[in-house]
Amino acid sequence: MTPFCEKPETLVVNNTPTNNPPSGPSYQTPPQTLRGADQMRLIIISDQPDDIALMRSALEQSGFTNLIVAENSEASLEHLRKSLANGISDIDAILMDITVPSMNGYEICRMLHANNDWHAIPVIIIAPNDESGHMPFDAGATDILFKPIRGMELIPRVIAALSLKQERDLRKSREHELETELAERKVMEARLQYLVGHDDLTGLSNRRRLEQELELAVLNAHYNNTTSALLYLDLDQFKVVNDTEGHTAGDRLLVNVANKLRRQVGATGTLARISSDEYAVLIENITLDDAVRTAESLRCLMDEFYFKTDSRTYHIGVSIGIALIHPDESITAGDALTRADQACYVAKTRGRNMVHIFSHEDTEMLPLRHAAQWVPRIRDALLNDKFCLVFQPVISLPSHETTHYEALIRMIGNHQELISPDNFIPVAERMGLIHDIDLWVVEHAIDVLRTLPVHLSLNINLSSHAFQDPALPPLIREKLTTTGVDGKRITFEITETAAIANFSQTRNMITQLRTLGCRFALDDFGAGFSSFSYLKQFPVDYLKIDGAFITNLVNDPVDQTLVKSMTEVARTLGKRTVAEFVENNETLILLEEYGVDYAQGYYVGKPQPLKMTDS
Ligand code: C2E
Ligand code: MG
Ligand code: MG
Repeated sequence: MTPFCEKPETLVVNNTPTNNPPSGPSYQTPPQTLRGADQMRLIIISDQPDDIALMRSALEQSGFTNLIVAENSEASLEHLRKSLANGISDIDAILMDITVPSMNGYEICRMLHANNDWHAIPVIIIAPNDESGHMPFDAGATDILFKPIRGMELIPRVIAALSLKQERDLRKSREHELETELAERKVMEARLQYLVGHDDLTGLSNRRRLEQELELAVLNAHYNNTTSALLYLDLDQFKVVNDTEGHTAGDRLLVNVANKLRRQVGATGTLARISSDEYAVLIENITLDDAVRTAESLRCLMDEFYFKTDSRTYHIGVSIGIALIHPDESITAGDALTRADQACYVAKTRGRNMVHIFSHEDTEMLPLRHAAQWVPRIRDALLNDKFCLVFQPVISLPSHETTHYEALIRMIGNHQELISPDNFIPVAERMGLIHDIDLWVVEHAIDVLRTLPVHLSLNINLSSHAFQDPALPPLIREKLTTTGVDGKRITFEITETAAIANFSQTRNMITQLRTLGCRFALDDFGAGFSSFSYLKQFPVDYLKIDGAFITNLVNDPVDQTLVKSMTEVARTLGKRTVAEFVENNETLILLEEYGVDYAQGYYVGKPQPLKMTDS
């Protein structure tokens, strides 16, 4: 059968039969673009046997065999009702005598026309010759056929009615499609709109949305004399959880915190997540005292919150900074955010788990906070040799003999103070300066190594970025050649998380550097815990068990079990273990018991500039 309306725009009426009409005189064949004639469902509503017979015969000869005859209005309505499935009628056209018993044909016509389910069905009214021409059309009919009915006239009218039906169906389905499309677009737009203003992970407002709200708060302060408070919250222990338990646990923590804050803040303010572990609350129409009270309640909430994973329970804690937007001082939305951020930073540096109100006296803290301020300092340090290395001894167990040192970088401050790498390594990594630092460290560490007795070796930390740099192996080769230092005296340390993130590249680089005799240590081992599966494929010689498992080893049976099992796994894989952060003798004794090969930590020796007497 020809499918209904494949090319809907043009209705082709031609004489090519789509099926085989019964033999005998044929009035006209149905149009090709319609469904087959035998699929068309027509109702004849009439109580005139002669008319019915004539119409049936003429229609059947043209292939319209799917006919229903209703001899009164009740029967016709019953058929029409039955024809409905999901609000769509399968009747394609109605031929109706206006004199149909019990209900006037016009009334039926009007009723059909007014009904949503039926009004697309074309109705051909069959009327006596003297009937007024406009009545059927007023009632909603599509055509009128005057008696006596003649087949030659009937079939073209039926075909025209069916064409009309086809057009109506088509329009309806187009409208439906458009409505669906429009609805989908609206949903998409709403979703986009939502995403523009919301944080994907937690569903809270995002930084952009907060900034918009801040702009309004600034305007309100100016024109309506209102005071608003911006609370800047930074989680105290997020990094530990994220680094130790992995990103999935980190995400779970962020969502848990968001939900807790959401419940507490409620409708009193705008709660936003503005960066990885930083949230903000903007409260309008509030006094400073109330803002402090609110901040304290949020701090307490987080102080009582413990985040549990399978192996551990973490106390999270939050540091909160407060900045006010008030009518007496004209500041921008950006200023408010910077001030609250800065106040939060002060809360952090003064011991965390605190609330701090912004004060201009805090401005000396600003440089520490902003990467932009660190970049010129790092560049300056690289250019003017304002870096130095300190060395921390590592002893062999159980002999307690110093076998090697770990080289750790420091920046030399304006007052000759040594600045910890925690302040500038993350900035350097973000701002693309880490590569130069890695090269500086390699160069200087090998220079130091040349001056040390040959039985001592050095551990050198490399950032994960170093392993993406194909220029590094030739550079190290050249440095070893010019200094005459044996590559076997160098162990490069790479953190476990960095190694796993760039697994294949890191492995290739390790393989290349191994040909120079260099060895490798997986730093902060255990922090990611995905490590056991990677370990087998990773050509490293040492595992440096993360300090987090060691500091509390004496008191924590879970840590004891973990350290023991890490040592066993390492031994099975033929790798040696180093314990970091050994801070007392009890820990050292336990580590010896477990068969850990090396120990490093403040108890063994703090990092310090190397004097020749050390060697
Ligand atoms: P890391 O390689 O795990 O270094 C160990 C860190 O723990 C050092 O901090 C060290 O001073 C500290 N530490 C040692 N023993 C103890 C102890 O008993 N207790 C405690 N609480 N801490 C101890 P540092 O020197 O501040 O280095 C921090 C991190 O910065 C290093 O962690 C390393 O990831 C990175 N880093 C240090 N020097 C370099 C370097 O030259 N290049 C690169 N790319 N990264 C470096
Ligand atoms: Mg290290
Ligand atoms: Mg470490």
